[in-house]
Amino acid sequence: MELLGTYLNGNFTTRLFSDGTKIRETKDDNFKAGFAENMDIKICNYCDMNCSFCHEGSTTSGKFGDILNEKFTNTFHPYQEVAIGGGDATSHPDLIPFLQKLKDKKVIANMTVNQIHFEKKQSLIKMLIDEKLIYGLGVSLVNPTDNFISMIKQYDNAVIHVINGILKPSDVERLSNNNLKMLILGYKNLRRGKDWFSEEYENILPEQSWLKENLADIIKGFEVASFDNLAIEQLDVKRLMSDKDWEEFYMGDDGTSTYYIDMVERKFARSSTAPFDKRYELLDTVDDMFKVVIEE
Ligand code: SF4
Repeated sequence: MELLGTYLNGNFTTRLFSDGTKIRETKDDNFKAGFAENMDIKICNYCDMNCSFCHEGSTTSGKFGDILNEKFTNTFHPYQEVAIGGGDATSHPDLIPFLQKLKDKKVIANMTVNQIHFEKKQSLIKMLIDEKLIYGLGVSLVNPTDNFISMIKQYDNAVIHVINGILKPSDVERLSNNNLKMLILGYKNLRRGKDWFSEEYENILPEQSWLKENLADIIKGFEVASFDNLAIEQLDVKRLMSDKDWEEFYMGDDGTSTYYIDMVERKFARSSTAPFDKRYELLDTVDDMFKVVIEE
């Protein structure tokens, strides 16, 4: 495990390792970030998957953000992390020069792709990882076939993303006991996610109850199980942990050391689920935007 970098941020020091491990240390009682540790960045709204529950509302008419020319992209701190997504981020025509620019600034880029794009674009994905243009790779699950499982096992830093309410017992059965890493995301009631929930709640709610009831056993089948803040709330993850473990592993509320940037709509917000009236026009620096989010 290689140390990627150590940096001071507010009242704590962060050490980042190549396998995604992050260690924060402070002498105070709480961590207070001086700048955002991580930004969730949407680079396009184009996607050909047409998922019914897509909270981004992405389609083949979706636009690509002007990712090479936004002023704030010149203001990242070394070792700041970005989680790049879309739409289908792999389809952005400027993806590679954008990632190269981030790498030149020592920004740690992670990216999420859909399973189908991951399978179809293996040479691109391999190149991005080999060239250290991205570190972490999130792959949104569609269908856990044997072929997919053997493919994803080749990537040490790949994490399978699943959604509370979409993940089925049969998916868990096929994925379990394969030394895989899984990130459980909360169900986002936004855009198509909202429409799909009102049409399909009779199917979604039982899947959510099943996951919540069986969570303790389900996570035993994975090398690592993690959650976004929405899933932590929806699945009441805290009940499964001791206070000590919670203190150690909980990374903080949205907007305390992370925020969201939409490069298509040119907006930023506390998180990707922020209400539309709590999304603000992009500012010129990542620190100015973080300040607005913190003060909010
Ligand atoms: S959920 Fe992801 S893969 Fe599906 S349409 Fe939306 S952006 Fe595309």
